[in-house]
Amino acid sequence: MNALVDKLPVEAAPLLAALRAFAQAQVAPLVGKNQWAGPAIRAACAQGLAGIEIPKALGGLGLPFTARAAAVEVLARVDLAFAFAFINHHNAILRIAESASAEARERYIAPMLRGDLIGCTAMSEDGAGSDFTAIGMAARKVEGGWQLTGGKQWIGNAVGAEVALVFAQTDAQLGPAGIACFITRLDAPECRRVTDQPMDGMALAGIGGFELDSSFVADSDVLYPPGQGFRQAMAGVNKARVHIAAMACGLLHSALAQATAYCSARTVAGQPVLNQQGLRWSLVDVSVTHDVLRLLTQRAAALIEARADEAVEAAATAKLYAGNESLAAVGQCVQALGARGMAEHQGLTRRLLAAKALCLADGSNEVMRERLGASLVRRYARDWRDDTRASPTPSTPSSTAMFPALYLTRAEGGATRAELRTLSQSDLPEGEVLVRVSHSTLNYKDALAITGRSPVVRSFPMVPGIDFAGTVERSSDPRFAPGDAVVLNGWGAGETRWGGLAGYATTRADWLVPLPAGMTAQKAMSIGTAGYTAMLCVMTLEAHGVQPDAGPVLVTGANGGVGSIAIALLSRLGYMVTASTGRPEEAEHLHALGASGIVDRAALSSPGKPLQKENWAAAIDAVGSHTLANVLASTRYGGVVAACGLAQGMDLPATVAPFILRGVTLAGVDSVYAPLERRHTAWQRLATELSVEVIERNTRVIGLGDALTLAPDLLEGRVRGRVVVDVNR
Ligand code: NDP
Repeated sequence: MNALVDKLPVEAAPLLAALRAFAQAQVAPLVGKNQWAGPAIRAACAQGLAGIEIPKALGGLGLPFTARAAAVEVLARVDLAFAFAFINHHNAILRIAESASAEARERYIAPMLRGDLIGCTAMSEDGAGSDFTAIGMAARKVEGGWQLTGGKQWIGNAVGAEVALVFAQTDAQLGPAGIACFITRLDAPECRRVTDQPMDGMALAGIGGFELDSSFVADSDVLYPPGQGFRQAMAGVNKARVHIAAMACGLLHSALAQATAYCSARTVAGQPVLNQQGLRWSLVDVSVTHDVLRLLTQRAAALIEARADEAVEAAATAKLYAGNESLAAVGQCVQALGARGMAEHQGLTRRLLAAKALCLADGSNEVMRERLGASLVRRYARDWRDDTRASPTPSTPSSTAMFPALYLTRAEGGATRAELRTLSQSDLPEGEVLVRVSHSTLNYKDALAITGRSPVVRSFPMVPGIDFAGTVERSSDPRFAPGDAVVLNGWGAGETRWGGLAGYATTRADWLVPLPAGMTAQKAMSIGTAGYTAMLCVMTLEAHGVQPDAGPVLVTGANGGVGSIAIALLSRLGYMVTASTGRPEEAEHLHALGASGIVDRAALSSPGKPLQKENWAAAIDAVGSHTLANVLASTRYGGVVAACGLAQGMDLPATVAPFILRGVTLAGVDSVYAPLERRHTAWQRLATELSVEVIERNTRVIGLGDALTLAPDLLEGRVRGRVVVDVNR
């Protein structure tokens, strides 16, 4: 069984094979030595093995979190302490890649990937282990940067790393809100390393501490400013807990492999000792522990990858199980070897110590129990209350109710396979609210997901559909009750978590918007994410002071979902709208929506001059690339361009001329993670400001299976307006 590895993208396989070979060739000879594995980490980096989750654009491999978990498991089979040190280094690079300034990325990422610089993440202190908010490392603002003073303890790689991500308090009175994080050089004279407390069994991890005395960190090396440090530290902790569980999988596997090999070779009275039932059963128990731990680890890694709320509890469960069970399980493997099991060269006593370390690192067993205890009521007591209420009405589905769904899997070779499947409610991911979906839509992003032309889907299997409308069937959140009509857009639906192209969907309560009074599910989906995004674009122009009498407003991608509804909204509000389209034959339709002028998109889609004739008071751009560059270049002095799409391309080959010479504003519009209040406003306004005729004229309704055949047409620009999917058709 190779559960962690089986769920991985195929691109992870070469990395895991290389890590396995590296560990056997270069880590195994170090095992048992009383020294930090720094040179081996550098050697692994030199082979390009440290880029696991680092984006490809920054020189990494761009693999998902599940690959990182599998990587530590592979390494921990040879030595857990090395796995710990190596992944600490990787994680420091990843934090810099995700959050550091451009200058800091430039300064650190390439040297760290090469292994010229080794990194560590420094949170714990003497007196602030589990209680992270009590850290005493102080950061004081000085001109051009910060000065750090204080000590850190129990930090992997600290005995030799050159770079540390140091969490420090900038204002003790602010508590967690004062915590920030700084990219700090440990090879500077103001840093004194503390290496006198090596941990038994964990020598290769180079665990130690350091004292900083007014160490200067430039402003450009602030990784998380005050207010973000605590949140970011906690966000990383879930991943760290899954690493620990994954390392425990590797540790148990190697101990069990060794014990099984020994017991099948060693004979007593002509029989392998493995034939003795008591011994065999004892090792079977270890094997079951190992398999359960792997499943828990795999579940937690997948939930983290899907950014699901349940990831917190899943990570704590896997970590607690690893801490609780590994020590006894390795102990059983020692027992199987008899007195030989205690011999140092067998490596099992080192594994015993490492198993003990698992009970403490990244949150002790007690901390995990507290974490899980905090959610007991939410996870179980409410179910008891619900389950023992009056018997369910006939319309309440059981968890075995079947429903149709579009289902995406990844075939060997990486291609996306899309099919219509019948699923059961028990297949759905966990969520606070269960919604019986009535309608969804086929958006550009859904078409990308279904055809696999662009990697919008972050984990497989996946139900696509970035939006849906329907009726609440079950809710553990008091804001929603069975029968409520709701709509959902974005939040990773159809990308990181199962979306709306199915008969049922589960979701967080925070992400749902009640359907405005009088709006049906079909109408909501006729508007869909495209219409809701168009409204966000209009609200963005308004927020920047663009009034209806300002002058012509250009809408690009005019015949698309966003463009056509943007035209209808703007013209209804009294703006003069010009539509840019590649389909002049649709001119009549665009005029009917409210466009007074039409321009050929070819005039905008090729490279143009940095400054052009000042045509537009404002614009809504769904196209990006050269089109957006030309729109900016032809926007009037002080004008505003709301950019929301990339139908032509993700790039923006523009100059700063429109910004610095004409004061043009480029305002980004994101619908996926827009705050709830803004969503409510957008949907309320859509209910009243968009005419039913416009929506109906602009919409066609298809069945779930039709979405599969229509997706390629949509990407080729052969579909006009909105495509609503009736999931029950
Ligand atoms: P559609 O596919 O419905 O429309 C896109 C339109 O863009 C087409 O109809 C076409 O309009 C135009 N177009 C297509 N290809 C090109 C090209 N190569 N060059 C110039 N114009 C082109 O998509 P949507 O309206 O649903 O979405 C538009 C964009 O907005 C997409 O990129 C989508 O990913 C993005 N989006 C972003 C959101 C956000 O949160 N920021 C939310 C929703 C969508 P015509 O035929 O008139 O020329």
